[in-house]
Amino acid sequence: MFEIVFLGTSASAPSVRRGLPAQVVLHDEYRFLVDCGEGTQRQILQSGVGFKRLSRILITHGHLDHILGLAGLVSTFSRWETIEELDIFGGRWALERIRELVYGVALRGAEPPMALHLREIQPGPIFEGSDFTVTAFPVWHRGPDCFGFLFEEKDRRPFLPEKAETLGIPPGPWRRNLVNGQAVTLPDGRRILPDEVLGPVRPGTRLVHVGDAGRTQDILEICRGVDALVIEATYLQEEAEMAAQFAHLTAGAAAQLAADAGVKHLILTHLSRRYRERDVLAEAQAIFPNTLVARDFDVYQIKRGECTKVERVSSEE
Ligand SMILES: [Zn+2]
Ligand SMILES: [Zn+2]
Repeated sequence: MFEIVFLGTSASAPSVRRGLPAQVVLHDEYRFLVDCGEGTQRQILQSGVGFKRLSRILITHGHLDHILGLAGLVSTFSRWETIEELDIFGGRWALERIRELVYGVALRGAEPPMALHLREIQPGPIFEGSDFTVTAFPVWHRGPDCFGFLFEEKDRRPFLPEKAETLGIPPGPWRRNLVNGQAVTLPDGRRILPDEVLGPVRPGTRLVHVGDAGRTQDILEICRGVDALVIEATYLQEEAEMAAQFAHLTAGAAAQLAADAGVKHLILTHLSRRYRERDVLAEAQAIFPNTLVARDFDVYQIKRGECTKVERVSSEE
């Protein structure tokens, strides 16, 4: 299961109700802040996510509405919050701008208060946990080195306790080894294979996050069949020309991607202040009915085909 907490859902400039782009993706004890627009610190506090364990930041691209909050966040970490390590992942151009912002403006020659790593993203896996991975993939937008992220649980085979009972496998290391795919020899000498106690493969949950994007054909395959796609919808079709000019998507184009890729759920974010939310939703739902429009502080749980709105972050301590 992944949870996503939307901290800022506005494009380019904040509105009364929407902050600048930022969201947190949670999986067990892991947290990934995806983008960090101006004002993100306060959204983190208000959402209940808090700063703890927020030590990995993934940046989709280097435009200011996605990175300007990093200076304030690092500044806060340096004075009041203890965090031992901070990894900021981004494309080369985004990291150049972040380096100026953090080292030039926020720290001004002072040592970073924690082990601060600016990690340049190449397409491919950028993080591996015990049961999930995060993979970066290129996204086309204004400027170089823009990335989207695929959060993917590993496939697994469920342990079937009733089969283990029938076979008379005692509790203890034998069951654990079978779950891990190893054949075991029981105390009575019988040899048991994992296939005898494991059910069919269950595909892991997949969540794709795309920041700003100017076209969809090159991300179609990575989105194929995912449980949830989070993507920008800055414009409506009536201003498709302007969307093309600024390398953004219309709600209709995002919905067409969701339909073509056969995703289970579409969540739109990065909304322009020029439109009403219900017009964005209506345009997308006409093409892909299973569409939601994110608001600041919305929390969604994504789990094998389900996308459920919840009141608060469940993996909070
Ligand atoms: Zn943007
Ligand atoms: Zn942008």
